[in-house]
Parts: sequence; structure tokens; C-alpha cells
Amino acid sequence: MQQLWHFIDGKRVSGTSGRKADIYNPATGEVQAQVPLANAADMDSAVQGAARAQVAWGATNPQRRARVLMEFIRLLHRDMDKLAEALSREHGKTLPDAKGDVIRGLEVAEFCLGAPHLLKGEYTDGAGPGIDMYSMRQPLGVAAGITPFNFPAMIPMWKFCPAIAAGNAFILKPSERDPSVPLMLAELMQEAGLPDGILQVVNGDKEAVDAILDHEGISAVGFVGSTPIAAYIYERGCANGKRVQCFGGAKNHMIIMPDADMDQAADALIGAGFGAAGERCMAISVAVPVGEGTADKLMEKLAPKVEALKIGPYTGGDDVDFGPLVTAEAKARVGGLVESGVEAGAKLVVDGRGFSMQGYEDGFFFGACLFDHVTPDMDIYTQEIFGPVLVTVRAENYEDALKLAMDHEYGNGTAIFTRDGDAARDFAARINVGMVGINVPIPVPLAYYTFGGWKKSSFGDLNQHGPDAFRFYTKTKTVTARWPSGIKDGAEFSIPVMK
Ligand code: NAD
Repeated sequence: MQQLWHFIDGKRVSGTSGRKADIYNPATGEVQAQVPLANAADMDSAVQGAARAQVAWGATNPQRRARVLMEFIRLLHRDMDKLAEALSREHGKTLPDAKGDVIRGLEVAEFCLGAPHLLKGEYTDGAGPGIDMYSMRQPLGVAAGITPFNFPAMIPMWKFCPAIAAGNAFILKPSERDPSVPLMLAELMQEAGLPDGILQVVNGDKEAVDAILDHEGISAVGFVGSTPIAAYIYERGCANGKRVQCFGGAKNHMIIMPDADMDQAADALIGAGFGAAGERCMAISVAVPVGEGTADKLMEKLAPKVEALKIGPYTGGDDVDFGPLVTAEAKARVGGLVESGVEAGAKLVVDGRGFSMQGYEDGFFFGACLFDHVTPDMDIYTQEIFGPVLVTVRAENYEDALKLAMDHEYGNGTAIFTRDGDAARDFAARINVGMVGINVPIPVPLAYYTFGGWKKSSFGDLNQHGPDAFRFYTKTKTVTARWPSGIKDGAEFSIPVMK
């Protein structure tokens, strides 16, 4: 069985804890590899190495740092097939979707090529007599990222590309369920010319995370994952004086107005609800048709499309729509929530519970489910299911639909499908959700905008990628300089003000 490693100071190392986690192939249910789980000593050795290496890296000019990312981008394209295969084998998503995972990360690397521009400070010439004032953006030192299983290429790159371009060293603690691609990315960064120690990959579970949160040598922590863990990391990291940003779970509503193109809306719901088996924080998990007539028309179009979805392993060819869930526990959890919906009285229009994949009976496949007549008190509405399950809550009118989305505790993404520009504008202005789509079901902003939810979907002040990333991974220093012809007046005892 393949034994994975940590990647510390440019070398593969096995760590000292002796603890390991099994990594499954979700399509077959087999354990295909094991990954070491770091303890505090392993984390400390990574932080020490990172801190040593960061001094020279932080002093390297930003253009040279960006050139490493330029080469990294070339290597990502070179190894795209290999990365996608490793990603699908551990995660279960289809190969085209795995490539999308890599490309959405690569796009942030492209954005970070502009680091020299993004790191420029401000300058005021002659702020006072003989006085100039300027600000600098300087790296924090060592930053860390704790990432989820569902985008094992994209989210690590969202974190380490800007952090490293800004002159920091970075400790990545990827999900212990699919760590192979993050390890491959670190070796590609090394091949691209990154000095050893600047990108450390330390694998692990809660023990490794706690070691990050308590380590004095780490200045900033970025997290992406479920909301309870996000809240925990935010609280403990902040209590330890770190800069922290945490992105949590989601329950994304799509409002379908009576004037929407129903075929377009149904197709959008299918892709956004069931792509990657619903294991996306930007998946649409709640359809909200406005008016009974709209709801009836939508269900009529949706049900046959959901029934026709093709489920299979990533090796199953181009017509596979989505693959298995990531683990047996994830499958059991999704199954439990679907049962709870049936018991609570929701109508299960398409029932995927009995699905079994021929030849892959031990895989973690779960059939597509479509619920209608869901009410806001049901667990299938309040909780993030993170599986191939779309729930429909019928709204009487636009205001009810808007209120429903606004009252939900999560606020990551949302969408409205309509032909009415006035309704679309009103929705975008009033909704309390971070990312909004207008006739776009998964409104993930491009790399040069920022990504982040509201409410319980995000903790902290700044978003991920885009200009916010450079704010998060740098601190500002402001210099006031006087080069007078001579200081003639002696000491000043009151606070100086500009005249
Ligand atoms: P998770 O919270 O289980 O794990 C995320 C990370 O936290 C992993 O690295 C894991 O090792 C670590 N972790 C797990 N339990 C921990 C504990 N008790 N203490 C400390 N660390 C712990 O999330 P997941 O299942 O890997 O990912 C799915 C979740 O991530 C979903 O809720 C999804 O919505 C969310 N997500 C959010 C975004 C976003 O940008 N908002 C993006 C992707 C995924």
C-alpha cells in the first residue's frame, strides 16, 4: 500500500507521531494509501524551517517571486492529466471536474503574477515641510492554511499562491482524506524554483490543526471547511493573537421567478445541484420556485432530468455526470438526512437511496434525490447536506422567497433566474449573501474578484483571492520621513499636526 508523507524543507518525511489515516478510493471503497498524521513536534519542525527560509524569500524582489509562480503555472499545464487522475482517484469527482478544480486554482496563481503591482504602497511627496510619507506592504512571516477535501487543488492554491507571492512562507494542512494532490503541488512549486521551506505540507487531523493554532511562530491562519470547525478555528486562532479568516458551510438558494426560462432554470439546477455529487460549497441545494404554477412547471421539467443523471466512477467515460461521495461516513450522513426528510413529510419525487453501481458495489455512490414541498423547519432545509440532494421550498411570492434565503443561517452563494431586470437588481441589492448569480447558478467570482460568504459561511474581515488576499497576507507599515535642511526648533511636546 502506498505510504504518503509530509513535505518539509523540500523533502518527503514521515514524521514522528506514528499515527496514520487511511485514504480510500471512493469508487471502489478500497483503502489505497495511508497518510501520516502530524503531531506538535512535526508541526514545530515545519514552522522552524519555514521561518528560517522566509527571511531571504521575504527580501527577494516581488517580480522574482512572481516568476516562480509563472513557471509553476507552466508545470500545472504539463501535469494536468496526472493531477486530475490523482485528484479523482481520492475524491471521486469526474476527470473534467478534477481539471476544473486545478484550473480554478491555477487562475489564482495567474492573478498573483501581478503581486509586484498589488504590493505597491502609497506615497505622499511633501506631506509637510521637508516631510514625505509612504506605506509599505510587508509579509507576515509564516502563514498557515487548513483546507477541505472537496477542492484539494483549488483551495490550497487559493491560499498558498498569494501568501507566497507576498513574501511569506506557508504551512499547508490539507484534508487528510485526499492529500496526494496538495503534496504534488508542493513538489511542482519546488521544481518551479521555490526555495525549500517556503511551502511545507504537513498532513494531519485535529492534532495538527491545534498545533497550528497554538504555535507562536505562525502569524496568520486561513481555513476552509465546515462551519463548526471554522468557528472553532476562528475563536482559538484569534485568542492566540493570530490573523484568522475562516470560510464555512453553505445552503445556497436559487429563486426561480415565474417569468424565468424554465428549461434554462432546470438545466442550471441540475448542474449546480448535482455536479461533484453536491460536494461543493457553491452547489445550489435549495430551489425556490415563486408561485404554485412555477413550481409545478419546474418539477415537471426537473424530475426526468434528475432521474436521467448518470452516476459512475471517474474511469467511466465522458457521459458520467457525477461520482461517489468521499467516504462511507459521508454516504451514511446523506442517507440519514434523506430519511429524515421523508419522515418529516417532504415529498421525495426522485428517490436515489437504493442506488447501487454495478461492479462497484462497495463504492460510496448515492443516487440523485429530488425533494418537493420542503418546509423551513426540516433538517433537510436547515442543514448542509453536501450530497446529490436538491430540496424544493415553494414560495408564494418574491418577498417570501427573498425572506427565506435571508433568514437562513448560511450566506455563501445564491442565484435568481428571471427575465425581469428590476427583480434581479432588487435581489442583488437586498440579499444578505456574499456571492450572487443572476441567471448564473454557481456565481464563483473569478480570481481577480474576491470569494467569500456572509453570515455563518464566513468568519473574519477579508475574503479569499483577489486583492483581499494580498491584504490578508501582508501588514502595512507607514513611514514618515523628514529630510530637513536642519532641525532648528528643538524638541516638540505636543502631537504634530500638519499646518
Ligand atoms: P471539515 O470541516 O470536516 O474539514 C476541513 C479541515 O478541517 C480539514 O483539513 C480537517 O482536517 C480539519 N478538521 C476537521 N475536523 C477538525 C477538528 N475537530 N478540529 C480541527 N480541525 C479539524 O470540512 P470538509 O468535510 O473537509 O469539507 C466540506 C465543508 O467545507 C463543507 O461544509 C463545505 O461547505 C465547506 N467548504 C466551504 C468553502 C467556502 O469557501 N466557504 C469552500 C469549500 C468547502
